[in-house]
Amino acid sequence: MSDENRPFFSNLKCRECGRLYPKEAIHICEFDFGPLEAAYDYEAIAASISREAIAARPQTMWRYRELLPIDGSSTVGAQVGFTPLVRAKRLAEALGVRELYIKNDTVNYPTLSFKDRVVSVALSRACELGFSVVACASTGNLANSVAANAASAGLRSYVLIPADLERNKVLNSLVYGTNVIGIHGPYDQVNRLCSEIAGKYGWGFVNVNLRPYYAEGSKTQGFEIAEQLGWKLPRHTVIPMASGSLLTKIHKAYRELIQVGLLDEQPFSVHGAQASGCAPISTAMKKGADIVKPVPKPDTIAKSLAIGTPADGYYAIRSMKETGGFAEDCTDEEVIEGIRLLAEQEGIFAETAGGVTVACAKKLIEGGNIPREESIVLCITGHGLKTAEAVAEKCGEPRLIKPSLREFETLLADELLPA
Ligand SMILES: *Cc1c(COP(=O)(O)O)cnc(C)c1O
Ligand SMILES: [Zn+2]
Repeated sequence: MSDENRPFFSNLKCRECGRLYPKEAIHICEFDFGPLEAAYDYEAIAASISREAIAARPQTMWRYRELLPIDGSSTVGAQVGFTPLVRAKRLAEALGVRELYIKNDTVNYPTLSFKDRVVSVALSRACELGFSVVACASTGNLANSVAANAASAGLRSYVLIPADLERNKVLNSLVYGTNVIGIHGPYDQVNRLCSEIAGKYGWGFVNVNLRPYYAEGSKTQGFEIAEQLGWKLPRHTVIPMASGSLLTKIHKAYRELIQVGLLDEQPFSVHGAQASGCAPISTAMKKGADIVKPVPKPDTIAKSLAIGTPADGYYAIRSMKETGGFAEDCTDEEVIEGIRLLAEQEGIFAETAGGVTVACAKKLIEGGNIPREESIVLCITGHGLKTAEAVAEKCGEPRLIKPSLREFETLLADELLPA
């Protein structure tokens, strides 16, 4: 076997006790119920990887395949990732900071959110493990991505969602011909039901029994940010939190790049953003607590982030503390202001989670937790058309006229200059 194809992904490993497990569809340690995580042979990776080799590969998330948990090549979602990192000069000026970037996963292929990254890994691994039925518990975007990627891979899929999601989120699952099941209850109850189904029917649930593989896909957002900055880390990264997984994995990605020698050791902080109507992680972090108190009834327009009992909340807090990061939360009005600010300054239409990230970044800057002179990346994770109703009545209406030049000129009398 050539070096290029050697598997560097060695085991699953308990985050609590470090016990090693085989690379199967399991996600919890039998001894202490700690979450299992992918472990790699970093020395072997360091010896075989280089910036030049990566740069020569196709511009997808799979250019970092040595640090992803599958044995062969990707079979699902081979074109996902490598979204633009945009230098946001106008938004920087509006926020009063010097160096600001948007990691724009609103245009991630194929379903316009960062969830295509996690699903691509989970379904590629599901195929390696022999699953023919895949499923998920979702706040919307994960369902969209499982539906689309399963369709293109010819896998049967079931997506379970809270019944009250945004219309377009639901439609963006139905159109792919998946089995959409709406549950009367919040996400936590959907997730609990999925654990029972996974145990009983042996389906591949991307965020239950395949979670160790799924979660690793999020690292690619961090790898790309570093490479797109010219192999350098931003001093600050602001990340929206639902279960908290994405934040912990961007932290892991930055650490791994240093560990395999692609980056020099350098300081960085990861900061978490939530909506006040469901902010269990931010609330605990602000109080200095390690234990995350569940939110039984989430109430926010940022539905993709509305997880009351976040599976990775404890580890997200650890990542923020370890890197000197902070957490913030914002009201639904601030979410809408954040969406409009990003759209009007940078021409990027983000979903409600993006509004949360912008609004919380603004507060972290104004509160002095992110210094104005240091580099900042905002992770914008999903497209605005998916949550259109959140801003539907907040952006005004078109001005209506008959098709007549006279009406046009009357309407715009104050704005038109002679040619
Ligand atoms: C799922 C999701 C997140 C973050 O999810 P984690 O569970 O914290 O990894 C962020 N933004 C959007 C749009 C999402 O769909
Ligand atoms: Zn353990």
